[in-house]
Amino acid sequence: MRRRLKMGMVGGGLSSFIGKVHRMAAALDNEIELVAGAFNADANLSQQAGEAYYLESNRVYGSYVEMFEKEKQLPEDIRIDFVSIVTPNFLHYPIAKMALENGFHVVCEKPMTISSEEAKSLVELVKSTGLVFALTHPYTAYPMVKQAKFIAEQGMLGDIRKVVVEYPQGWLTTALETTGNQQATWRTDPKKSGKSGSIADIGVHAQNLAEYITGQNITEVCADITNFVPGRLLEDDANLLIHFDKGAKGVLYASQISVGEENNLSIRVYGDKGGIEWHQQEPNSLILRLLSKPMQIIRAGDNVNLCPQAIKNTRLPSGHPEGLIEAFANIYRNFAEVLRFKNEGLHVDSHNFDFASVYEGLKGMLFIDAVIESSMSKEKWIKLKI
Ligand code: NAD
Repeated sequence: MRRRLKMGMVGGGLSSFIGKVHRMAAALDNEIELVAGAFNADANLSQQAGEAYYLESNRVYGSYVEMFEKEKQLPEDIRIDFVSIVTPNFLHYPIAKMALENGFHVVCEKPMTISSEEAKSLVELVKSTGLVFALTHPYTAYPMVKQAKFIAEQGMLGDIRKVVVEYPQGWLTTALETTGNQQATWRTDPKKSGKSGSIADIGVHAQNLAEYITGQNITEVCADITNFVPGRLLEDDANLLIHFDKGAKGVLYASQISVGEENNLSIRVYGDKGGIEWHQQEPNSLILRLLSKPMQIIRAGDNVNLCPQAIKNTRLPSGHPEGLIEAFANIYRNFAEVLRFKNEGLHVDSHNFDFASVYEGLKGMLFIDAVIESSMSKEKWIKLKI
């Protein structure tokens, strides 16, 4: 019998940010239901969250260890099919590892781990178990980013020469972590965030977006990173020159001290025949510039002229804005489709796997390593250890 996929969540307590977005996104297409969770390191707070989310109290756990141990004892049609990991960075690895070792598929927040060694170990576990692993890079799930990738793949831009990708935010302009702000506190703590601040938090989104659209991998970086706020232990600003494997060159910056900026992720890609431009804060428009032609604005919701992946990942007719929750929902819907196809013995091809995987997670960690190494080195360029 067909049934909804059952999701367990780790993290996403009442005071959290992205867990709520994941719960809304997972529910949006009616393919997935939240049935269990360990929402907080404190068992009482986890129970309070579970109550607020209308869960049965015996499916709300005091820890992720308890959740996996108890869930795997339940009958197959009752227990969770997969876990959604929405904790601070340092917990992604132990939770994902335990999930995979106990037969559960994984949806995991970025950065995938806090070291490339952990990331490599997850790659091996995904390979050996055959389980599905999705990494939530939501920006590559927007329809207009799918269209940008399609335009590049079709050769409409010609040979891609230059990429400019930027992610400025302003929310860490002051020492917010000293005021008790939950999200700022762990993000600026190397034990919880890992060796990087802004690059781990938002730079990996810029990296992933650039690689997704161009179909090229970043191979080396020349990085200049700074902790501008006095006393801060991790970088809050990063300026990079980047080289790609098929010849493109570019500029990538990630900054959390760009005062007044919200989530101003933007990308411009230029080939020898054309260029595209996309802005996360205006996600339903894509600018296309072809050599000697007037600039075009391509809009989401045009179900006649857009590529199949853009159409598939759009829910509403043009002019009805879709945003971040729908982009996350695209990841969950595509992930659910892969799981369903696998369960039903159907062929799964790369179009179904249209979300970042454990391999992109590893690339993100190797990128972080190279940025940190470059910033400490006198060498101009540092290669990613792919
Ligand atoms: P947050 O501090 O708002 O939430 C973290 C949650 O994890 C809290 O509910 C906390 O109680 C819970 N938690 C901590 N330790 C736990 C434990 N041992 N067991 C169970 N729960 C535990 O953090 P956030 O801003 O929501 O970020 C969470 C993750 O999501 C981070 O890895 C972050 O990088 C990522 N993130 C990704 C995006 C994106 O666009 N993909 C956006 C925001 C955050």
